[in-house]
Amino acid sequence: MDLLDRAQVLLLCDLCQKAALQSHCELCQINLCKACVGEHLSDASKRHNVVPYKHRTSTPNYPKCPNHTQKHCELYCEECNIPVCSTCLSSGKHKGHDLSDALQKLSSKTNGLKKDLKELEKRIYPTYEEITLDLNSEKVNLEESL
Ligand SMILES: [Zn+2]
Ligand SMILES: [Zn+2]
Ligand SMILES: [Zn+2]
Ligand SMILES: [Zn+2]
Repeated sequence: MDLLDRAQVLLLCDLCQKAALQSHCELCQINLCKACVGEHLSDASKRHNVVPYKHRTSTPNYPKCPNHTQKHCELYCEECNIPVCSTCLSSGKHKGHDLSDALQKLSSKTNGLKKDLKELEKRIYPTYEEITLDLNSEKVNLEESL
């Protein structure tokens, strides 16, 4: 699988799993494509809060704790050089250690990858309107490969 394929998998709509996602509903924590946004909002039983995917504020990407698989590490121990979760902290092992935000710490490590993805998005989105024309045939391909 090359990088482009992976990125497209990452960016699929949660609802139909066929089209590239564009928006995110903060209420439902779901990613939506252009076509599904309208459908999603038509459900008036909830006050959906759909924002552009890039502007979503939720950050569920904390790494899993290697020691406590149910926990996510929200902090990073500068002293031990490992991500730590709240259970790690309450064990007292990191008492007095310098802690920083795990996401910030890890994102500085993965900046290279993020830059690649940004580049990809730049290449994917400007042509998005053009691809929608071809989408029907792509849908068939995707369905076959799923
Ligand atoms: Zn969709
Ligand atoms: Zn919603
Ligand atoms: Zn832990
Ligand atoms: Zn520590």
